[in-house]
Amino acid sequence: MAEKRDYYEVLGVDRNATLEEIKKAYRKKAIQYHPDKNPGNKEAEEKFKEAAEAYSVLSDPDKKAKYDQFGHAGLGGQAGPDFSGGFGDLNDILNNLFGGGFGGFGGFGGFGGGSRSSGPSQKVYRGRDIRVRVKMTLEEIARGAEKEVMLERNVPCPDCGGKGARNSSDIKTCPACKGSGQVKRVVNGLFGQTVTYSTCQQCGGEGKIVTNPCRTCGGTGLVRKKESVKVSIPAGVENGMQLTVRGAGHAAKNNGVNGDLLVLIEEVEHPNLKRDGNNLSYTKVISIMDAMLGATVEIPCLDGNYKVKVEPGTQSGTIVRLKGKGLPSVNSYGLGDMYVKFIVWIPKKLNRSEKELFESMRNSESFSPAPTKEDKSFFDRLRDIF
Ligand SMILES: [Zn+2]
Ligand SMILES: [Zn+2]
Repeated sequence: MAEKRDYYEVLGVDRNATLEEIKKAYRKKAIQYHPDKNPGNKEAEEKFKEAAEAYSVLSDPDKKAKYDQFGHAGLGGQAGPDFSGGFGDLNDILNNLFGGGFGGFGGFGGFGGGSRSSGPSQKVYRGRDIRVRVKMTLEEIARGAEKEVMLERNVPCPDCGGKGARNSSDIKTCPACKGSGQVKRVVNGLFGQTVTYSTCQQCGGEGKIVTNPCRTCGGTGLVRKKESVKVSIPAGVENGMQLTVRGAGHAAKNNGVNGDLLVLIEEVEHPNLKRDGNNLSYTKVISIMDAMLGATVEIPCLDGNYKVKVEPGTQSGTIVRLKGKGLPSVNSYGLGDMYVKFIVWIPKKLNRSEKELFESMRNSESFSPAPTKEDKSFFDRLRDIF
């Protein structure tokens, strides 16, 4: 499937547009691409659907907020209206929205003649995206972090305000296309006239040409600028995740729509802890005395050391769960857990008196192994973590 276009780009509005501006822009597109006006034109139909989808999201404050933060991914594929049943109800919807006049377009008028408003719309440029990698430690992932990244961005030229020329008199309507950005070609063929439109070569479809380019930017309207950008990374992110900061990418020429900043998360391996989803694991080696007599040991958790009781008679391989000591989830509430595995350390060398002491207990009943009752499935499940 083709990549979805940015909704703001689809409607040709900027990110700060008011609901009224969004409505107006949609109305214009809806008129321009309405199926009644473009019978059998697949491309117009697609554009019409695209505009309706963009409008359905940008006119809904909840959806708009999600889209602004996470892009198309934030909407979970349920963005737009469903056209599977055809366009039957659409005129009603549009009439509701704009107060009548959509039925057959009689109310609007002006479509027959060479009306400007129905001509090809001005091309809205979109700046390129910028990709950066951000390293995150588990401690930072646990809390979320504000990261500063250095970028070199295209920004609108300060000397011409992004227009490419210092004086507006230096920007002229393109003589080749008379400002429409498209060139009409009429071919007389066997079956009558065929009219085709193509992008104007002289102005690149902009409809305007710069006769005296701004010296600072050479007429592109853009200059390079080094900037540090603060990116706030939510808690619970994982290695390889990509966050989108809308509009923080390159600026576009003619004051178009900014690209996005795409932030790729790189997780730094923790010296002691292992991660499995939102759970963490840690192996604690304890002395044979602590295992036999019980003890309190310190476990390094992400929010500092945590005291954990070792029960008297703890077997090597015992796993205890520290509830809520794992990582938060990036998509939902709740915390993962920390699993601590106790390994009993057996001394490799004993001095004479130690040897004698243990030798004297060799045949003691307390030291003879008893068959352990292990819950196999439980340990099998947890073994994967270590
Ligand atoms: Zn300039
Ligand atoms: Zn032109």
